[in-house]
Amino acid sequence: MTAFQPPLTGRPLTRQHAIVTGASRGIGAAIAVGLARAGANVVINYRQNAEMAESVAAICRKFDVSAITLQADVSRADDVNRLIETATVHFGAPAILVNNAGVAHTGLLLDMTEQEWDMLMSANLKAPFLCTRAILPHMIRQQYGRIINLSSIWGLAGGSCEVAYSASKGGVIAMTKALAKEMGPSGITVNAVAPGAIQTDMLGHLSDEDLQMLAEETPVGRLGTAEDVANAVTFLALPSSSFLTGQILSPNGGYVT
Ligand code: NAP
Repeated sequence: MTAFQPPLTGRPLTRQHAIVTGASRGIGAAIAVGLARAGANVVINYRQNAEMAESVAAICRKFDVSAITLQADVSRADDVNRLIETATVHFGAPAILVNNAGVAHTGLLLDMTEQEWDMLMSANLKAPFLCTRAILPHMIRQQYGRIINLSSIWGLAGGSCEVAYSASKGGVIAMTKALAKEMGPSGITVNAVAPGAIQTDMLGHLSDEDLQMLAEETPVGRLGTAEDVANAVTFLALPSSSFLTGQILSPNGGYVT
């Protein structure tokens, strides 16, 4: 957690229901907590670790909201349909979907196998499609929705040795912009958050020296925190953000401008 958390004025997401994919740790966990802090009931999706997901739910409940955990591999259509249906039966129609689950792959494109490419695209690009497709009928019926997709600065700028990851996150940006146009008339906003280097398990493959170098190359002089990203997501999820759609908000400390 960052040291200073300014108080939210009121609880702008009270009585709303949010689904956050891949929320058992890292950025997804911080997003679930941020939305709960703003008053939303949250569904914490996880793939593997029920215990970690439950501890995120326990933190959310401290904000006087309901929080449940649901297992689903969001790259699989059957799992996604079960996730959205169960969430809807429990809480009613969801107002907020955060497509956060994702995986990274580092290495030369020349060395990447077809199976690795397919696996990465399924987790990073197909999963947001599946979740969005399953949730849209509910949002269209309400004529209200906030869809927030996790992209990356590499989806904007391209990263060496992260070609497939960059392609998947660039795809997320294009999907966000196109769907925003399709859904505007239905009262549903679709935006993306494209973080820079954020201290989570996803950077676990980097040495301390590499992390130090990344921090020094970042104009604000530090790596990002999961809460930096959660703050951007909460902002886009607000009812008052209704004129913001098809946009890419990039918490990156000035690394990519
Ligand atoms: P992380 O610490 O590695 O956590 C990833 C989360 O996604 C885990 O909870 C994981 O669950 C879940 N997940 C992966 N595949 C899934 C699937 N098929 N179904 C359900 N859950 C799945 O990553 P993070 O740093 O928090 O990243 C979150 C998002 O931000 C990702 O989309 C990532 O690409 C993006 N992002 C991260 C950074 C960064 O520097 N960290 C920068 C830019 C963008 P399991 O534990 O069960 O595998």
